[in-house]
Amino acid sequence: MKIILLGAPGIGKGTHGDMLSVKLKIPKICTGDMLRSETKKGTAVGKKAKVYMDRGDLVPDSVVLEIMENALDGRKDFILDGFPRTLAQAKSLEKTFAIDMVINFVAPNKEVMERVTGRLTCGYCGEIYHHKFAKPKKSGTCDKCNGQLYVREDQKADVVRKRLDVYEKLTRPLVDYYKKKGMLLEINVSGSIEDVKRGVWKSVNDYIKKNKLTEE
Ligand code: AMP
Repeated sequence: MKIILLGAPGIGKGTHGDMLSVKLKIPKICTGDMLRSETKKGTAVGKKAKVYMDRGDLVPDSVVLEIMENALDGRKDFILDGFPRTLAQAKSLEKTFAIDMVINFVAPNKEVMERVTGRLTCGYCGEIYHHKFAKPKKSGTCDKCNGQLYVREDQKADVVRKRLDVYEKLTRPLVDYYKKKGMLLEINVSGSIEDVKRGVWKSVNDYIKKNKLTEE
């Protein structure tokens, strides 16, 4: 099964994508993680991408498409977290793959802002915390590895605002694009995380059964 996850930055595509990946036994591919890994390794692609990522812009299609071509090569099943993010990326993807479903996560902008700007990341192991919803036991320190927590450059308030603007302009049109194709499942993810997770799984499972997307 080939699934695309859509939704504003910080809405929880990563969290819900991980849950769906485990339940459906389908690998999740996260473009943002791949770009961050290139940046960490200091590759030419990583250096180029960092400039755009740090200021909240999208990395140019040509760069992302090259990375994704390699990541998706020969795959039968995947959950895409953070790709496509432009119409050009969507059109390029469908040249090679027939997508089964597109999930659009929605929540009020205010809630998204609060979730994403409160995030703290461990500089050592990458574990994610939240200063209100998922506090570390000791302030500023990772529970798992004792690493120091920091606020990612692209999770600072002004950059988040920019990312939300960019989302509205360049990525939101994909919602209509896939709705017109009749392949969009919209899920409201406003509220407490455990209830939301259960709701997401129920919606996705029902949709899969209704549309007979499983191969048995
Ligand atoms: P994410 O972790 O998914 O929010 O992605 C972090 C950043 O990586 C984004 O703000 C973009 O700068 C860049 N990025 C991730 N996916 C894409 C994509 N499909 N197209 C362009 N830029 C992307």
